[in-house]
Amino acid sequence: MRLTRVQHEFVDAVPESLTSGVVYVSIKYATAVHLCCCGCAREVVTPIQPRRYRLMFDGVSISLSPSIGNWSFPCQSHYWIEGNRVRWARRWTAEQIAEGRGRDLRLLGRWSRNPDAGRLRPPELG
Ligand SMILES: [Zn+2]
Repeated sequence: MRLTRVQHEFVDAVPESLTSGVVYVSIKYATAVHLCCCGCAREVVTPIQPRRYRLMFDGVSISLSPSIGNWSFPCQSHYWIEGNRVRWARRWTAEQIAEGRGRDLRLLGRWSRNPDAGRLRPPELG
């Protein structure tokens, strides 16, 4: 069953057994982990890094950006987590996934050649 909301939990280390609908955020390890919001319960790891994911915490809820595209899962679900809500996005076609990945790699290539890359805002890949 597709989730429409999540809760967040700030943790030091991500627990071994995860609860569906909870986004575990470890500032210490700069990563967030949750179970796929489609209900397939696969583990989704979103590293919080300049070239990967941005985490926003407004004091009440969290948002992750860009969108979460679980292309390597059978469900291939694609959604945004915004203000603890799950906003479902359209599934991408194989071509779009390939193009998105290509774009991602090109951007990574450009960034890795830029000595100031760490200070740049990560590009939107959603
Ligand atoms: Zn799934």
